[in-house]
Amino acid sequence: MLEHSDVVIIGGGPAGSSAGIALAALGHRVHVLERRTFPRFQIGESLPPKVGPLLELLGVQKDVDAAGFVRMAGTTTSRGAGPERHLYSPKGVELGHQVDRGAFDQILLERSRSAGCSLVQARVEGLVRSEGAVSGVVFRDEETGTRRTMHGKLVLDASGGARVIARRLGLTRRSSEKTVALYARWKNAKPPRDFPAEDTVFEMQEDGWIWSVLLGDGTRSVTVGFDVGELRHRSGEERYHSALARSELLRGVLEGAVMFAPPRAHDATWYDASAYAGPGFLLLGDAGFVADPLTSQGVYKAIHSGLVAASVVNTITAHPSDTEMATSFYDRTQERLAATYGELARSFYEQSGYEQSPFWRDRARAGTLRSDRLPPVPFSERARRRSEFMDQLTRLGGDRLGLRARPELIVEMRAVASEGLIRNRACFVDRRRPLALGTIDSPPGVQPERLHPLLTSPSIAQTFQTYAEQANVPGSSETARGLMETISRLIEEGLIELVVSV
Ligand SMILES: Cc1cc2nc3c(=O)[nH]c(=O)nc-3n(C[C@H](O)[C@H](O)[C@H](O)COP(=O)(O)OP(=O)(O)OC[C@H]3O[C@@H](n4cnc5c(N)ncnc54)[C@H](O)[C@@H]3O)c2cc1C
Repeated sequence: MLEHSDVVIIGGGPAGSSAGIALAALGHRVHVLERRTFPRFQIGESLPPKVGPLLELLGVQKDVDAAGFVRMAGTTTSRGAGPERHLYSPKGVELGHQVDRGAFDQILLERSRSAGCSLVQARVEGLVRSEGAVSGVVFRDEETGTRRTMHGKLVLDASGGARVIARRLGLTRRSSEKTVALYARWKNAKPPRDFPAEDTVFEMQEDGWIWSVLLGDGTRSVTVGFDVGELRHRSGEERYHSALARSELLRGVLEGAVMFAPPRAHDATWYDASAYAGPGFLLLGDAGFVADPLTSQGVYKAIHSGLVAASVVNTITAHPSDTEMATSFYDRTQERLAATYGELARSFYEQSGYEQSPFWRDRARAGTLRSDRLPPVPFSERARRRSEFMDQLTRLGGDRLGLRARPELIVEMRAVASEGLIRNRACFVDRRRPLALGTIDSPPGVQPERLHPLLTSPSIAQTFQTYAEQANVPGSSETARGLMETISRLIEEGLIELVVSV
């Protein structure tokens, strides 16, 4: 039997559900094919505060609030020399979520159903192709045991590590040294004495790392990551307990605590893809690239990819002549994210405090995973430039601090996602970087073509005032905030210099 849908989504994790929710809201007929019965276990429980606004957008904020997940203000890390606390925001007001992924992912999947998606419990086993494009999937219906085929105008692969499309089309490009993560849940853990129990705990050891999270039911998850080669010499369980016996942060916390079941192994290796979009398909979330687990960005980037993919699909179906523009936009967005998170992970490995140990050294070199096409500004350098700007502004005031755009900064028409469509609009671009990868996002309301000529001013105050007059907007705090954010991003990228007038 042949079945048809507008969009077929493989996998109902955060990437697939988010794409489904957004597409259904845009009026598309969507089938989500998920092989497991939800709620199902999934690793990856720490969601940073930036996931919050996406939950609101997806319409699940209330359900997530009601689920009673632990909220945390930051992380406590250790490099073997005492705990170090890192807050998400200076006063600890921005909170993340420590979620049970079974419950969290079910909230998202249920929302996709209530938004209008058809959910089918099915294992996708093959692709249908016509004229060089992916045009559908072959799947086993897990309820009836029958093999069926479903055609779609587009197929979105959100199958996580299964990478249904990438594996079949040979798109996985590179991967890091193989890291295995052993995960177990514990009951009766003690409250920590040296740090808040809610914090994400991250401890670096010479031969790997430990990660721990307090969950809403009072249990604690503890994950130990190390090089897979170690399993040649000893069992995973032995290795797991050896890490905990040496743990500076968790030894006391786990004294007298009991594991529910022996630790289970998960692959924690990163990889990326040579293309994130092609004829008839897009790769979403982990089905495209995996961010190193130490970055805690997996769920964020999965949801983000789902939302962007929905705008891309909407554009392709509403304006077929924009197909090339929209798919290459998606490809570059994912490429850029993979590069950014690759760089973030690399900076963790480089600053582990164990630079000479093979585990950390080999993974810090996995900078080769970064995109060949984009050398990003390191995070530490971005943070340094932003805080230097803020310091100078506070010290000198907007009248004595001016801006000078570097010649590499230009304004060009580039594709961006806006209101459910991918459109061309004027953007700031770093011309040293190829194609749209050099695009610097500016918040809605900021017009780069208007701001660019004002980036030669001897005073920021004057830049703001002239912009407000020319754009005919009140010098309201919203405009000011958008301008300030844009200028800060350009300073981070090294595209604006600061000029002090005497
Ligand atoms: C050790 C470790 C720690 C992590 N910690 C964090 C963290 O703290 N914070 C964070 O944000 N992220 C973390 N992550 C990453 C995070 O778990 C993933 O990035 C996230 O789950 C990706 O979401 P997704 O929707 O792309 O894929 P998934 O969540 O994997 O969902 C894919 C879905 O597709 C289904 N599927 C697979 N194959 C098929 C098929 N053939 N047919 C139909 N359905 C199929 C699966 O059943 C699954 O439900 C961690 C990962 C690891 C390995």
